Amino acid sequence: MMTGNPESKENAPVAAPSDFIRDIVAGHLAEKKYPQIHTRFPPEPNGYLHIGHAKSICLNFGIAREFGGICNLRMDDTNPTKEEVEYVDSIIADVKWLIGGWADQQLGFKSGGKSLEPFYASDYFDQIYEYAVALINKGKAYICDLTPEQTDEYRGAPDHPGKDSPFRNRRISENLDLFARMKAGEFPHGARTLRAKIDMSSPNVWLRDPILYRIRHAEHHHTGNKWCIYPMYDFAHCISDYIEGITHSICTLEFEVHRPLYDWILGNLELPRPLPHQYEFARLSLGYTVMSKRKLLQLVTEKIVTGWDDPRMPTISGLRRRGVTPEALRHFAYNIGITKYNGLTDVAVLEHAIREDLNKRALRRLAVLRPIKVVITNFPEGKIEELEAVNNPEDPNAGKRKIPFTRELYIEQDDFMEVPPPKYFRLRPGGEVRLKYAYIIKCDEVVKNASGEITELRCTADLDSKTGGATSARKVKGTIHWVSATQAVDAEVRLYDRLFTVEDPDAKGEFKEFLNKNSLEVVKAKCEPSLKDAAPETRYQFERIGYFTLDKETTPEKTVINRTISLKDAWAKEVKKV
Ligand code: ATP
Ligand code: MG
Repeated sequence: MMTGNPESKENAPVAAPSDFIRDIVAGHLAEKKYPQIHTRFPPEPNGYLHIGHAKSICLNFGIAREFGGICNLRMDDTNPTKEEVEYVDSIIADVKWLIGGWADQQLGFKSGGKSLEPFYASDYFDQIYEYAVALINKGKAYICDLTPEQTDEYRGAPDHPGKDSPFRNRRISENLDLFARMKAGEFPHGARTLRAKIDMSSPNVWLRDPILYRIRHAEHHHTGNKWCIYPMYDFAHCISDYIEGITHSICTLEFEVHRPLYDWILGNLELPRPLPHQYEFARLSLGYTVMSKRKLLQLVTEKIVTGWDDPRMPTISGLRRRGVTPEALRHFAYNIGITKYNGLTDVAVLEHAIREDLNKRALRRLAVLRPIKVVITNFPEGKIEELEAVNNPEDPNAGKRKIPFTRELYIEQDDFMEVPPPKYFRLRPGGEVRLKYAYIIKCDEVVKNASGEITELRCTADLDSKTGGATSARKVKGTIHWVSATQAVDAEVRLYDRLFTVEDPDAKGEFKEFLNKNSLEVVKAKCEPSLKDAAPETRYQFERIGYFTLDKETTPEKTVINRTISLKDAWAKEVKKV
């Protein structure tokens, strides 16, 4: 029941956002500074992408899309010990899922956007090595034999200058020789480094002769055992940008202090212009979750969640599995905007984007999460009455379906109270309620077992009161959902909630102390029979409950359904009744 191209309804362009980076890009185009805008999204394949990355993807690919440019997906893979092919594959899949609908443009993947081969910084190792040699030849880089501890000590601190390394004034020929021997594998792990010769008393510690290359005898996921020296992020990044012809290299604010180094390296290599330029924006921090890959990895390895794509994770794969659509994530990314100020984004903003999106597309269904049996004593045994219901009142093209009504039904335990409080408009002994799309029923008798638990409610239906029927004018205050007990299909429904109980688990010390122990509840639900044919990727609204989607663990024998989000925000402070 997949509804064709998921983008089809969404083709009306979302108003392109405007922000300081887009203003800069528009200005550069107006003054013809570059023939074409070229951005990149450069994840390190050391974990799965999260919703913070989604913000960066929507910004970088969004700018390329809006300004007729190109955006490269580049694996920033210069650290062999933390990177894996599994992460590379997941990144490609997640980027494709998030912006695959933007197929109308050159996405900057290799082969004209048709293949999903990304770029790899490690493909430039030969060139990056040659640029390092060029810096040595210019007297701008030297081989240093200080240990990592000594290097830290010599660097000083922001409030006091560093000290020159005793190896700073090595001759160029000696530096060239040592660098070649580092590459040849003559020295052990960490024995020597290549450092830029800048200024050990610079107020910016990143300019105090930063390390450009280090020795790592480690196999690399992409280059295998070819290298035992690896460039540092700061050296590889600007050169990769240059090699790819990037015009606007957009990153998060922590890198603002690295920008002088970015410019120093490219400037001192005296490369043909134009050079790429770095711009910084505020990273996304989202309430009630953590975002650093290191912490997300901890949740996975310590089995606090079931994997990177656990539907409670803020990863793109987790949100996808939970039932969030790419359009909802893109709207969210556009709505929060791009600024220069770090702050915590209210998770309600994300949840609002998800609800708004799902309300438009979700097929309405009836399902009872915590069933209690109802017997309609004046409805014949064995009779199945097919009632009609629209699939989505928000979408006239979504069609209609039949729902069977029978003598035995289930309703939600919550929708009956033996001794209800005032203003309780659902079912009570002697009271009436409307069953959605069906009849008004009255509760005549509450049947209990020996231990006093309610086992069934015996009711009579007003058979003249059918919804949409000729004699349906009679009104009652409450309407509840239900399913036929004999026709229902069983499903395991996983009810997810926020992973943490506090808005900023990072701010208060050990983030794992604030895990929400009730972030997953599993119920055995009864669903209307049309859900037998539930399709992956289709979104459903269980009426009065929330939005749901099929989980990948569904088998022919067992249906597993994830709650994407409840209809209303259970965490919001109770709205004052007027
Ligand atoms: P983390 O701190 O979560 O480990 P990272 O910055 O090390 O993330 P990278 O793989 O290097 O992760 O990130 C790739 C790109 O995504 C970078 O350009 C980075 O600036 C951007 N990015 C990472 N986290 C966020 C975030 N929370 N909000 C916006 N952009 C982000
Ligand atoms: Mg990083």
